[in-house]
Amino acid sequence: MHSLFTRNTALAALLENHLASLAAQENLPPETIRQALAAGTMVLLGNPRHRNVRPLLVGQPARVKVNANIGTSPLCHCLQTELEKLDAALETGADTVMDLSISGDLDAIRRDMLERCPAPLGTVPMYAVGQKYLDAGRDPAAMDPEDLFEEIAKQAAMGVDFMTLHCGLTRRGAEWATEGGRSMGIVSRGGAMLARWMLHNDRENPLLTGFDRVLEIALEHNVTLSLGDGLRPGAGVDAGDAAQIEEVITLGRLARRALNQGVQCMIEGPGHVPMHEVEAQIIMIKKLTGGAPLYVLGPLTTDVAPGYDHIAGAVGGALGVRAGVDFLCYLTPAEHLTLPDIADVRAGVMASRVAAQIGEVALGRPRAVEREARMNAARAALDWQGMRASALDPAMVDARREPHKTEEVCAMCGKFCAVKMLR
Ligand code: SF4
Repeated sequence: MHSLFTRNTALAALLENHLASLAAQENLPPETIRQALAAGTMVLLGNPRHRNVRPLLVGQPARVKVNANIGTSPLCHCLQTELEKLDAALETGADTVMDLSISGDLDAIRRDMLERCPAPLGTVPMYAVGQKYLDAGRDPAAMDPEDLFEEIAKQAAMGVDFMTLHCGLTRRGAEWATEGGRSMGIVSRGGAMLARWMLHNDRENPLLTGFDRVLEIALEHNVTLSLGDGLRPGAGVDAGDAAQIEEVITLGRLARRALNQGVQCMIEGPGHVPMHEVEAQIIMIKKLTGGAPLYVLGPLTTDVAPGYDHIAGAVGGALGVRAGVDFLCYLTPAEHLTLPDIADVRAGVMASRVAAQIGEVALGRPRAVEREARMNAARAALDWQGMRASALDPAMVDARREPHKTEEVCAMCGKFCAVKMLR
């Protein structure tokens, strides 16, 4: 048996119990899954402490997955609303959810979300530590690194399936990102807090110096590390600068260390990247990180579309998937403006699912290509049930067709219907 499975017994047990169903879901031979997991090019999300979690594969050549971020903010903190967003995200087809709450009783929110969410749930433990200091009126630069390790251990024991940890953010990278060469400096919340701590205390990142402690905690509960991109570009013009690349190189080295210790890792990616640079960015990140599953936020291909960032992100996401991205984090129409509401969550999930489909068609993935063929056959036959069944969002088909659902044609052309005309 590969050393990953002998070291990570929680993962081995999870795989044993679910391999047949995972292979069927992904339409992949079980051996392909085992080999990809052992090589670190695929991860199996699932913490045995997360009751009733449905384990999920992320990584080539599994289906591209979509994540929805939800969670409270200091200006908007209704737990009930966040739980409704969680339901909406899953209903719309999100494969995972991240709780990014930064206000209220974070332990209670996380517990409620874990209970309600059968999909893998991710978090950013740094937020809880930041809240502890900021709510007490203290500077996060005064953080005791032990608080961070305790928080990671607590959340792992609660059942969190994957965690964003900015382990690859070095002091040198933080200096490069803040010395004035960037248009947007550091835009990651967790990254900014860590960078402030490092620069203020003139010390190296505790998640980097204490990486072995992180691995020990992760190993116990098969928590997948989502190695965070604290220095991701926050503006298109910052993409690919030295600070970003320095962090990616470090993340690649850490991913190898983790795999050798039996811990699964994903790599988080950009960020804001102009369209013509997306492919190069993805190929470079994949190479520097040994093909570890790549989880991207967007990438956003323009900086001037607030209100429509889910569209700007879907363009980058589709290009990214064609270049090797495994996991898309959604962007919603609320990005850069406010906390998303339920409609924003639905729009964001659908935009990412559309991007994933576009990218997978370009890759020639059979399931995606066959879905297109089924839709085309249904359209040619004016078979509305068939169109509904092939659509990424059947509820949208129903809603838009409702006023004319008894007609054979649709209201676009009515009796001018070209399909009917040529029958
Ligand atoms: S009415 Fe027009 S848009 Fe609608 S099915 Fe016929 S050709 Fe297509």
